[in-house]
Amino acid sequence: MLFDSHNHLQSGKFGRPVGEMIAEMQAAGITGCVVNATREDDWEAVAALAREFPGYVFPAYGIHPWHADAAREGWEIRLWERLLSDPMSSVGEVGVDGWVDSPGMEVQMPVFIKQAELAAETGRVMTVHCLKAWEELFEAMDRAAAWPEKFLMHSFGGSAEIAERLLKKGAWFSFSGHFLHPRKAKVLEVFRKLPIDRILLETDAPEMIPPEDFVKFSLGAGVNHPANLRRIAEAFGRETREGMLGRIERNGMSFWSI
Ligand SMILES: [Zn+2]
Repeated sequence: MLFDSHNHLQSGKFGRPVGEMIAEMQAAGITGCVVNATREDDWEAVAALAREFPGYVFPAYGIHPWHADAAREGWEIRLWERLLSDPMSSVGEVGVDGWVDSPGMEVQMPVFIKQAELAAETGRVMTVHCLKAWEELFEAMDRAAAWPEKFLMHSFGGSAEIAERLLKKGAWFSFSGHFLHPRKAKVLEVFRKLPIDRILLETDAPEMIPPEDFVKFSLGAGVNHPANLRRIAEAFGRETREGMLGRIERNGMSFWSI
């Protein structure tokens, strides 16, 4: 039942054929994954994976805040067409990032807001990246003409207070193995407080490699393999109430199959 709610299998950073990696994911009991685009230039690579692995790779199309300045004229129409071409597709990875200097928030915000509106108009789920920009995220919610009913805060590293405000807006939260590093203990505290039915798990592969103990599938040089999700899930399972891991695992499929 385990489902990887966020990765970038299209990235070309694995040094391995994706088909082999998907076979290893299946052997590890992972039933599917959402592959997130980051800019218009990789939408077709994501679409190709969805065609090659139907029912296993769920495509997400969008422009990541780091690439907001590369959005080319007419991108909104082309994103809308991508979404309509595949009923299983969602909007991602989109959001706001106050950690990077460039592109500035004045460039990121309109691109993010437009994508939220497109997700709402097409009735799709949206995957949000938010780093050091919580107030900008709430501002985007206020400014957008429409906001998707279901949205996922991926690799959520916010405080319990932020989580509380986001829960009221209908957010779901996904956690990656990176948060199993001892220095990230605060994130685990927030994880334990969240309602079980709003939690999902992800790898963010090739990024967000977990501590060594949880790396069963090694690709070298800090490159994360999505099949590591099995060990990551077991570790998060130990952080929650007895028997709750199964509930969290089932959330993955039910969240993405609607
Ligand atoms: Zn990502």
